Amino acid sequence: MYNSAVNVVGRGGRVVKKLFWTIVYTLSFLLIPSYFRFSIQTRTELGEFANIIMAVPAIVAFTVSYAVALRNRELEETLAALDSANRQLERAYEMLREKSELDAMTGMFNREKFIATLDKMRRKSDVGTLLIIDADNFKSINDNYGHLTGDEALVLIADAIRKSVREFDVLGRIGGEEFAAFLVGACGVDATVVAERIRKTVEAIVFEPRKGTRHKLTISIGGAVTTDSQTLPELMGAADTRLYSAKNGGRNRISIDTRIPMAA
Ligand code: GH3
Ligand code: MG
Ligand code: MG
Repeated sequence: MYNSAVNVVGRGGRVVKKLFWTIVYTLSFLLIPSYFRFSIQTRTELGEFANIIMAVPAIVAFTVSYAVALRNRELEETLAALDSANRQLERAYEMLREKSELDAMTGMFNREKFIATLDKMRRKSDVGTLLIIDADNFKSINDNYGHLTGDEALVLIADAIRKSVREFDVLGRIGGEEFAAFLVGACGVDATVVAERIRKTVEAIVFEPRKGTRHKLTISIGGAVTTDSQTLPELMGAADTRLYSAKNGGRNRISIDTRIPMAA
């Protein structure tokens, strides 16, 4: 039993030894030119032992290149991890940037983003109608039912506006209880139809600030069509002027300058 165990260890040791020398010889044969190996073997008394000495640089070179390859792999993995972290950061930055352009309560563009988008479209000569939409007597909602209930009413109004326009129209909350819509490509009667649809949808909202108490929500809308020559403040001013007419006319109404500008 003991003997056989020694035999197994002895046989294993021989196998390892054989393997080692096979690697040494293979490397020396592969990496050291044969004429050089032969001349060393014949000129010195080293004989076979010369192979071992000659294999040392090859083994060192092999070990170094293996270590370099390992290091390279580590570096590649680090680079890949950095690249992925970088992409995650870019995505997070993009999400934050988009979030900072939205009004948290309604999900519409905030004032700055809406105005910047409108300005860009106007410069591209995208025609359309700018609507400024203001909630009527909103202060009374806050006064009677509290600010939080007022917030709920604002969200309902925003949803009503959103579902009354087309997907590609641009929407923004540009003030406390003031919204804006840029109806892309819609002038004249088309803009009036959309504005009237918004007004009616808001009017139809079932808003119950208290159980069993219904409060009618209404808005007034002023609108102006884009022209080539006007500046952004002029366009917003024109829509605002119409909003005041709608308010002065009794609220819950629209007033739009439907004159389509004449080509010069
Ligand atoms: P008008 O028909 O003339 O527009 O009357 P109004 O009461 O709507 O207008 P006013 O400018 O007198 O008041 C606006 C009110 O809107 C007062 C303000 O507290 C309220 N408001 C503005 N922003 C918010 C908001 O984010 N949440 C709530 N709950 N109320 C807001
Ligand atoms: Mg108002
Ligand atoms: Mg207002």
